[in-house]
Amino acid sequence: MKLRFVMTALAGLIMTGEALGQGYSDPYVDGMKAYAQESGQASVAQYADEVQKVERANGYIGSVLPLPPLQKVADGVYTITGAMMWATKENFGLNNNISFVIFPDGVFVFNAGPNPVVAYSAHQMIKKVTSKPVKWVAIENNQGHANLGASYWWDVGVRNIYSQAYATEDFNKTYARLVERGFERGDAALYGMTRNMASNYTTFKEQATIDVGGGEKVELRYFGEAHTRGSTVAYIPSKKLLFTGDLGYADRMIAVFPYTNTHDWMAAFEKMHAWAGDEVTVIPGHGGPSSMAKVKEDTYDYLVYMRDEALKLIAEGKGVEAATEIDQSQFEWRPVYAQTHEGNARKIFNDVLRHLPKK
Ligand SMILES: [Zn+2]
Repeated sequence: MKLRFVMTALAGLIMTGEALGQGYSDPYVDGMKAYAQESGQASVAQYADEVQKVERANGYIGSVLPLPPLQKVADGVYTITGAMMWATKENFGLNNNISFVIFPDGVFVFNAGPNPVVAYSAHQMIKKVTSKPVKWVAIENNQGHANLGASYWWDVGVRNIYSQAYATEDFNKTYARLVERGFERGDAALYGMTRNMASNYTTFKEQATIDVGGGEKVELRYFGEAHTRGSTVAYIPSKKLLFTGDLGYADRMIAVFPYTNTHDWMAAFEKMHAWAGDEVTVIPGHGGPSSMAKVKEDTYDYLVYMRDEALKLIAEGKGVEAATEIDQSQFEWRPVYAQTHEGNARKIFNDVLRHLPKK
C-alpha cells in the first residue's frame, strides 16, 4: 500500500526529456503542450509556457514527495530526519536532515536539501506549521545533499543562502558530477531541474551572524576541516540549539571518505564543543535530534578510539593492511556499519600515520 503510494508519487514526477531542466512537470501544462503540438496552435504553446513561468515563480514543482514526518524539537524548531544510509532512488536522495526555526521575521532553514523536489516538499511541510516566509537558508557543506536543493529556495525568493567558502569552492568543482550521480540512480525527475546557485551564495570564511529579527540571531561558524573541507555549524543562542552539520552524527556510523580529514575532525569537534558547551539541543548532520553527549560519543569518541587503536598497531610495527584488525564490534549495531567500518579503519589509520610526530 505504502509502496504503491510512493510509486504513484514518483510516476507523477516523471518528466519528458523536454521538461527536464525547465523546472517541473505539471500534467496541466503537459496536456496543453501536447494539444498545442497536435493542433499546431502556437498560441496554446505560448500560453502553456506562460503558465509554467508563473508556476515556477511561485515555487510550484509538482507532486509532493512523501518525506519522513516533521518532528518538533522545541518551540518553533522542527526537523525532518533523512534516511540513515546513502542516497537512493527510494529515499529521494534525502539521507541527511532538513531543519527549520521559526523567528518573528521569518524562517531559517538549515540545509538546502538534496534536490529541488525534496526542497519543495519540505517547504510544503514548513507551510503547514507557519505562514512566515523562508528568508534564510544555510548550507551545511559542499555535498550534493546539502546544495542541490538551493535552486528551489532561490526560485521562491530566498536571497540569503549562506555557505562556507571551501564548501562553495568544492561544490562548484563537483556540481556536474553530483547531478550526474542523481541521474545514474534513476532520479532524473528529481535532479533534472537543479541549477548551480553557488554564484548567489553569501559566502563566509570563519563566521557569519544572521540577524533574524526580534533581537534574535543565528551564528554560523567554521571550525576547520572534518568530514569535508568546509563544514558549517549553526547556533541559535535564544534556543540553545546547535546544528553540527557533518561535524556530528547520532547513531549512524560516520562515513569517512578519501577527502575526509579525520585528524582535523577531532580538533574541529573539540572547538565546537568548547564553544557550544554541553547544555545544548543538537540536531546533527545525520541522525535524529540529540544531545552533545550523544553526538560526542557517536562521532568524536569513535574517532578517538580508532586513532588510539591505530597508534597501538603502528607501535607494533604494523602497516595499513592491519587497520581492519581493529575491533569495532561495539559499533556493529549502527546503521551502515557494514558499508563503512573497514574503509573508515583504513583511512583513519593513514591519517594517523600522516600526523605522526617527526622523529
Ligand atoms: Zn552528509
